Amino acid sequence: MSQLNLILLGPPGAGKGTQAERLVGDFGLPYYATGDILRAAVKEESDLGGEAKEFMDRGDLVPDDLICKVVMERVDAPEAADGFLLDGFPRTVPQAEVLRGALERRSRHLTAILLIGAPDEEVIRRLSGRRVCRDKGHVYHLQFDPPKNEGFCDQDGSPLLLRDDDAPETVQHRLDVFHDQTKPLVELYEKQGLLRRFDGTRAPDEVHGHIRATLATLRLEEEL
Ligand SMILES: [Zn+2]
Repeated sequence: MSQLNLILLGPPGAGKGTQAERLVGDFGLPYYATGDILRAAVKEESDLGGEAKEFMDRGDLVPDDLICKVVMERVDAPEAADGFLLDGFPRTVPQAEVLRGALERRSRHLTAILLIGAPDEEVIRRLSGRRVCRDKGHVYHLQFDPPKNEGFCDQDGSPLLLRDDDAPETVQHRLDVFHDQTKPLVELYEKQGLLRRFDGTRAPDEVHGHIRATLATLRLEEEL
């Protein structure tokens, strides 16, 4: 069976997390969210984690080479021998170059970049409609999952709040940063013929079906 070495790309609120969960279930691939594995490395105080911590403690960005090494530690694990699903790395063109080199040295290559897109207005509508209850953090959505009593949690009656992260201005800013960072990356992967686009405004089942079909085709092509 050919490997499925995949990168998941997309703005916040386009349903990346949901799709990642399903792909992990379908293909048994390990899922590596870069932020999480970096934090884990720091917590475990591995050699690389300790190195990363020094940068973080100084408030500096962790260099691309170092993030890539932390990622490759996972990619080299037996569980990732048939492939992996990477989220949050690479985010920039230089990171993509570092990753390509590291994979090449292992005689591996990326199978595809799965870009789950959604227009900014849709993302803002989805995220800014979220409300979280003050006491227990129960999550509602004004449009998709409204509480029975407007403004209050069904389960504990505490008031529902809009998190700062979900405020429309904040979401727009996150989206601007995302687009600035990933546009050159998307263009690079498009040029390399690796990019596959999915419409994150569709129902999650439909998006999932499209991704599955795409991966099945890619696997067939690789085996020819
Ligand atoms: Zn609650």
